[in-house]
Amino acid sequence: MKVLVCGGAGYIGSNMTAMLARGGHEPVVFDNLAKGHRSAVKDAEFVRGDLADYGLLVETLGNYGIDAVMHFAAFIEVGESVEKPLTYYRNNFCNTHNLLCAMAEAGVEKFVFSSTAAVYGMPETTPITEETSKAPINPYGESKWAVERLCHFLSETKKLRYAALRYFNAAGAGQDCTLGEDHRPESHLIPLIIQAAMGKRDAVSIFGTDYPTPDGTCVRDYIHIEDLCKAHLLALDKLDEAYELVCNLGNGKGYSVREVIETVKKVSGKDFRVIEADRRRGDPPVLTADATKAKIELGWRTDYPQLEKIIQSAWTWHDNHPDGYDSKSPRPV
Ligand code: UDP
Repeated sequence: MKVLVCGGAGYIGSNMTAMLARGGHEPVVFDNLAKGHRSAVKDAEFVRGDLADYGLLVETLGNYGIDAVMHFAAFIEVGESVEKPLTYYRNNFCNTHNLLCAMAEAGVEKFVFSSTAAVYGMPETTPITEETSKAPINPYGESKWAVERLCHFLSETKKLRYAALRYFNAAGAGQDCTLGEDHRPESHLIPLIIQAAMGKRDAVSIFGTDYPTPDGTCVRDYIHIEDLCKAHLLALDKLDEAYELVCNLGNGKGYSVREVIETVKKVSGKDFRVIEADRRRGDPPVLTADATKAKIELGWRTDYPQLEKIIQSAWTWHDNHPDGYDSKSPRPV
């Protein structure tokens, strides 16, 4: 299948692009490189473009004979979204609306959308199923939820076949540890801890130690990037028959911030300073997925559920790319 991967130069998109190519598909990456890295795109055609550019979208969908779109291009910082709601709604919602309009014009019906556990807000119980109330508590989660609703209504008119995949915490490096996580600025826990272990940061901060969890720190469900991408391939196949598919993607097992720090120390063999800091605004104490639906409906199985394996792959990538994608000559794996 010819698949347009919007945001294919980013962390998840680049891993997806590589997996699509490996699986015999023909990915075409569409990315404005505002956040992504050109060198993360290896086995695909590349179109540098912005999702606000309607003409370029229609032209790209037509010129490459695109059969399906996978959409990863979004802003992802919860804190920043609270500061800049207009920016988040424009990029995450308006630009996706533009993309869906272009797909309708070009006659492309299949859409795999990168959604998030943030649509659930502060759930009262965990693990979270797809039926848990959707009550986002920040513009990031709201902007993703608004796209899901739009897709739902389009699917009811039979003008769109879509999968909304709600990610828990994507982590690790894929494609034999050659495609890793390099956000600028970095805000995600695992890369931040690894940077501390590499001596690139003075310390790592724990945001809150007084949560109602066993060790007082937040618990999250980390999912290996390869497992995450595998679910997208299965979802794409499923859209041959389904119009609407909404699934959580997580392992169902949570790890606390302290456990993640200890695992990085173990994997890297390095010690570093840990600071107990205040809570970060908007962080639910526990987010773990019930991913039974993805297992039943997609036949999805995770290959790397162990936190240690996830962190080992991330460590390998960072160790080989000390300056991220700017590393001059990344060491071969
Ligand atoms: N976290 C932390 N210190 C950091 C970054 C994150 O304690 O420097 C915590 C954060 O509060 C959350 C967890 O680590 O409980 C995972 O955060 P991340 O930003 O990686 O992902 P999120 O869960 O926000 O999607």
